[in-house]
Amino acid sequence: MSPPTSIPSGWINGKPHHSTGADHIVVNPATDQPVATVKLAGRGDVDAAIASARAAQPAWGRATPAERAGVLLALARALAAQSEVLIAEEVAHTGKPIRLATEFDVPGSIDNIEFFAGVARNLEGKASAEYSGDHTSSIRREPVGVVGTITPWNYPLQMAVWKVIPALAAGCAVVLKPAEITPLTTLTMARIATEAGLPDGVLNIVVGAGPDAGAHLAGHPGVDMVTFTGSSAVGRQVMTQAATTGARIQLELGGKAPFVVFDDADLPAAIHGAVAASIINGGQDCTAATRAIVAPTLHDEFVDGVADLMSRVVIGDPTDPATDLGSLISRRHREKVAGMVERARAAGARVVTGGAVPDGRGAFYPPTLVADVTENSEIYREEVFGPVLTVSPFIDDDDAIRRANDTPYGLAASAWTRDVYRAQRASREIHAGCVWINDHIPIISEMPHGGYGASGFGKDMSTYSLDEYLLIKHVMSDIHGVAE
Ligand code: NAD
Repeated sequence: MSPPTSIPSGWINGKPHHSTGADHIVVNPATDQPVATVKLAGRGDVDAAIASARAAQPAWGRATPAERAGVLLALARALAAQSEVLIAEEVAHTGKPIRLATEFDVPGSIDNIEFFAGVARNLEGKASAEYSGDHTSSIRREPVGVVGTITPWNYPLQMAVWKVIPALAAGCAVVLKPAEITPLTTLTMARIATEAGLPDGVLNIVVGAGPDAGAHLAGHPGVDMVTFTGSSAVGRQVMTQAATTGARIQLELGGKAPFVVFDDADLPAAIHGAVAASIINGGQDCTAATRAIVAPTLHDEFVDGVADLMSRVVIGDPTDPATDLGSLISRRHREKVAGMVERARAAGARVVTGGAVPDGRGAFYPPTLVADVTENSEIYREEVFGPVLTVSPFIDDDDAIRRANDTPYGLAASAWTRDVYRAQRASREIHAGCVWINDHIPIISEMPHGGYGASGFGKDMSTYSLDEYLLIKHVMSDIHGVAE
């Protein structure tokens, strides 16, 4: 076997950056084979990236919106032209199915960039002479400055794009720390951005460990804003680190999405939706359906239908376009998922299908349905982040809503019903940043994504996201001299 390719520790000031840190091997979790080695960036490398961003930000912030939009559109076109490289890398370091990378990760990223290229040209403030007879007031919107961004491993390219691109559209410069286990596509994006005309230093990458490079970035006085996508536990640490400098902060954290099936639902559609939304990306999706809460009259039929469909999911080689479910991110993560299912079983839950760790290569784990779960059990309360769905019956509509909200998380939820009043009630009363009606998972660049409660605060995507990266300045001018 040939040694894995050595990749840079980052991208700083428009060039590959090599650190002298410890070696880290990036592994393909579907084959257990190394795909690259990287010397992890440390604090000095983060300092260099921040210095590069600080030097580049003022000119980028002064560029006209049309100039910034032009660069973003060039980046979108260049990513599309090199999408095969990005797809292959995304599959290699995550083990996700190539169909998902081809239909969602890469085109979704490109669409997001195109959206923000348009939005960049709509940075309007407002002006008014009405409030005081002696003055005019105007509102300027200005870039926050340098943004430190920390992203997870589940959708490495998209999670980076959702944070980096609105920041760039607003005129900020960025230092991005991707999860060190999935660094390939963000490094490639930075290279392509430089080739597409993004000025040096506006986007910098450091591939380092979370508690080291990540913590240093989040608490750095040279960072004006920290944006983070990842677990709720680490998000709280990041908030503490950012509090030491008073940086603005935005957090997209974990989820435990309820999937509520009322007794008038289109059952086949709900069964299909539950399987699709619980196995997407191996269930390693913060909005994945995790808790099916089902009308008592439909419960048993729902369980049978989901178990049957789960047993027909195609698991295996992520590079095969027929594959529905690739491998999980690592064997270690699979142990965590399998452990939670085993503890549920030991506590009396019924594993209806799945739940067995397969032999052989890769971190594969089957679609798993767990019934008869208690409301205080670990599997019902904690984020599993695997292709695991629990199912429990509710008593009546009040109980369904209560169960849906019985979680500290509040990222996403769905309600399945043909009754418009039930749908309205669910969308009003479920405490989550997104409520789907008769669907679960679709997202669009035009609409905001972000959580309530333990799922974080602030928004990705949409014009709400752009606002996160802008400061609002009131300019008040005495008009006496002008009027008289
Ligand atoms: P994680 O919290 O372990 O790591 C996320 C990032 O934080 C990584 O880059 C990691 O290196 C870094 N990090 C770790 N410790 C750190 C520290 N002390 N200081 C600073 N940075 C640190 O999350 P993960 O396992 O990579 O991703 C899975 C989690 O992400 C799940 O909880 C999932 O729900 C969440 N997620 C949320 C969204 C959303 O939009 N809300 C999207 C995707 C993933």
